Amino acid sequence: MKETYSIAIDGPAAAGKSTVAKRVAKALNYTYIDTGAMYRAVTYAVIKAGLDPQNEEESITVLPGMTIDLLEDGTVLCNGEDVTKVIRTPLVSGNVSYIAAMKPIRLALVDMQRELANKRSVVMDGRDIGTYVLPDAQVKIFQIASVECRAKRRYDENVSKGIPTSMEDVIEDVKKRDYIDSHRDFAPLKQAEDAIPLDTSEMNIEEVVNAILSIIEEKTGVKA
Ligand code: C5P
Repeated sequence: MKETYSIAIDGPAAAGKSTVAKRVAKALNYTYIDTGAMYRAVTYAVIKAGLDPQNEEESITVLPGMTIDLLEDGTVLCNGEDVTKVIRTPLVSGNVSYIAAMKPIRLALVDMQRELANKRSVVMDGRDIGTYVLPDAQVKIFQIASVECRAKRRYDENVSKGIPTSMEDVIEDVKKRDYIDSHRDFAPLKQAEDAIPLDTSEMNIEEVVNAILSIIEEKTGVKA
């Protein structure tokens, strides 16, 4: 059987992981898996059902039978509904870290993530990919950037997508999510011991993609 590779890209909110991971996956012809979109989809389902996203007992009731599909073109389906846009709204962003701190929800999504990575080569981005979801990933990157830089990037992205936000709100959201994500008990945001840190504050997307492709080639011999 052909050998498959797993590339894990973790890091704090809005560090540009998904943009970069998508490009790296495309360059290698691997499947890109946006695990943040999965936590966002659950958050949306909880809010849509009128449940309290800070209440675990209530929130986990959306899990049984729930389906999340990540299509190749970036479309995210939750129970068959196209949620691609709505999961990026401030309402979902502001609540997703509460949902992501709930162990039963993490366990359900981690099962799906491991299943997706099982049979194919993947580039998976998130918070706990290198530490928990795919501890045996051949390449682990921990992508960071200053808060100011991350907030500016997210603000520009929101503007381009027509999502109304202020710079102050984006900074608040990024700081709040980083705090909750790195302080939760189960599978917190943390650099894996064998991950390579990459500070992208002064780099453009192209440079980050090339840096990661070089690391992959060095570690696995796989060339883009
Ligand atoms: O990657 P993104 O910023 O879209 O992720 C949204 C949220 O989902 C994060 O702030 C975090 O709370 C949660 N998340 C997580 N573990 C992952 C991916 C995302 O806890 N592997």
